[in-house]
Amino acid sequence: MGRRRQLYEGKAKILFEGPEPGTLVQYFKDDASAGNGAKKGIITGKGVLNNRISEHLMLRLHDIGIPTHFIRRLNMREQLIREVEIIPLEVVVRNVAAGSLSKRLGIQEGTRLPRPIIEFYYKNDALNDPMVSEEHITAFGWACPHDMEDIVALSMRINDFLCGLFMGIGIILVDFKLEFGRLFEGDNMRIVLADEISPDNCRLWDAKTSEKLDKDRFRKDMGKVEEAYQEVAMRLGILPEATNSDMKGPEVMQ
Ligand code: C5P
Repeated sequence: MGRRRQLYEGKAKILFEGPEPGTLVQYFKDDASAGNGAKKGIITGKGVLNNRISEHLMLRLHDIGIPTHFIRRLNMREQLIREVEIIPLEVVVRNVAAGSLSKRLGIQEGTRLPRPIIEFYYKNDALNDPMVSEEHITAFGWACPHDMEDIVALSMRINDFLCGLFMGIGIILVDFKLEFGRLFEGDNMRIVLADEISPDNCRLWDAKTSEKLDKDRFRKDMGKVEEAYQEVAMRLGILPEATNSDMKGPEVMQ
């Protein structure tokens, strides 16, 4: 593939124009950030692993009828995706208390929640992604009530499925963040799962030891971050066919 036009650079990914109209190429970087960019670093090989992990999870979700933006993986760090209009929400689903929920409500980390809880955050770096309610979302027109019905139903199905999938490999899905987009096909519009699902945006704990296998290792300077991402990929049975040299940092195309 020749040089492509870069459309957007985020903290962990870059979006390029795709080979056909309506498609984009999503490039996974090794850059890691936490606290809305307050802490920055590189997790060597993270992009390669997240590309594979997200591909695997998006395909499994597609298999159970969840519509996603994913088309196919192109190479070690890139995947072809459908261009969607991103809904400016971070949808967090929680099964076990951790992170900001524990802090905000004083619930001890590790407490199993009485039922899965969905939270919405307005995607806005300048405002630090504030938590919002459906009232804010529909009143300000970020999504309509019908979109929200789809988003909540899809998020719950995704949670049920991923909880089982991870439990099958000895991992507890504590919480995770999803993003959705509007996919326009002729006169029709569908809400589809977008972005990525990887240890960057999930909390994954070993079911026996409660060892953290996700980005909290980076956030909390716990070390062995690459190893944790590798462990998740290995248990999913998808360790990349990479040599160590392939796993080196990103070579970003302009
Ligand atoms: O920090 P908090 O406890 O609210 O995070 C909940 C979940 O959402 C975690 O799995 C975290 O990795 C994910 N998250 C994310 N991107 C953000 C905020 C949270 O992926 N900007």
